[in-house]
Amino acid sequence: MSRFWSDIVHRLIPYTPGEQPVLAHPVKLNTNENPYGPSPRVLEAIKAELGDHADALRRYPDPTARTLCETIARHLGVRAGQVFVGNGSDEVLAHVFQGLLRHAHPILFADITYSFYPTYARLFEIDYRLIPLEADFSLDVDAYRQPNGGILIANPNAPTGRALSLKSLERLLDANPDSVVVIDEAYVDFGAESAVGLIDRYPQLLVVQTLSKSRSLAGMRVGYAIGHRDLIDALTRVKDSFNSYPLDRLAQVGAIAAIEDVAWFDKTRQAVMASRETLSAQLEALGFRVLPSAANFVFATHPDEDAGAIAAALREREIFVRHFRLPRIEQFLRISIGTDAECAALVTALKERARVTE
Ligand code: PMP
Repeated sequence: MSRFWSDIVHRLIPYTPGEQPVLAHPVKLNTNENPYGPSPRVLEAIKAELGDHADALRRYPDPTARTLCETIARHLGVRAGQVFVGNGSDEVLAHVFQGLLRHAHPILFADITYSFYPTYARLFEIDYRLIPLEADFSLDVDAYRQPNGGILIANPNAPTGRALSLKSLERLLDANPDSVVVIDEAYVDFGAESAVGLIDRYPQLLVVQTLSKSRSLAGMRVGYAIGHRDLIDALTRVKDSFNSYPLDRLAQVGAIAAIEDVAWFDKTRQAVMASRETLSAQLEALGFRVLPSAANFVFATHPDEDAGAIAAALREREIFVRHFRLPRIEQFLRISIGTDAECAALVTALKERARVTE
């Protein structure tokens, strides 16, 4: 192996995405997709954009995604100039690392959180320091009171599902007036408090959200950031230096339709939250310890059973859950909330397994 190549291999440890099985009908509870599908208006909007032919695709899309930014702004009660959109929140986060987090001090994030953060930090050669979560996986905001080049908090956190209160986030922001503080709210619509309402008070705050989870559009790739104009301007400069057309024409119209269908959004997220409570109780009845979750997944461990063995046994029945082979959480499973039938299939499989291994 050439020296150049081996340097890259050692420096870049890519993110490992959850498995996307090639099966006709898997019970797929491993990547936190929404089981209910997007608003039917999304398809209507995409069809209307295309008409009877694909000629609309000949032309470049609006590079500023102006109508989408205005729709997001109206919906969240902010100004369009405070919105930045990207190709999934992963891309928005990549631009944040590239453009906003380069300082002399290390950036800070939790020792268990979304594993894309260390991946980006390594890619962009940004120093980072891991801040341990408490024994119960809660986050102590006072531990972030130290010199830093920026802070990232997933709220609710992944893969634990634990949420922080707005009060705690305000304390974190008050203690860090000079660092960019990114609150990644990928799962916020399933029961946590959003920090969007704080952006006018805290110019260092950037809130990142996605349409992949509560709007069920993971396949369309739309994410966005909300923050002070200067932060948005910096992100736009990064984007325009990289790919000034991040969102295709169909994604822009589809995203607008999804955001405008508030009734669908409310109905489906309420259904996910109700199923989460039912599934948590069923898992507890089977002897699991389940962390309180404000997300569309639960994080659970069984005191007497190996998590890897449970995941493997479920997999044989074409039921996919997420098992991370990482220190401290290797005995946990992250289980996305599926339809009632999918959750029932999971519980049945766990019960049958318990009977067999008795
Ligand atoms: N943030 C967190 C905490 C996530 O779990 C995910 C989903 N894997 C994302 C961001 C990225 O979501 P997307 O790129 O689909 O918007």
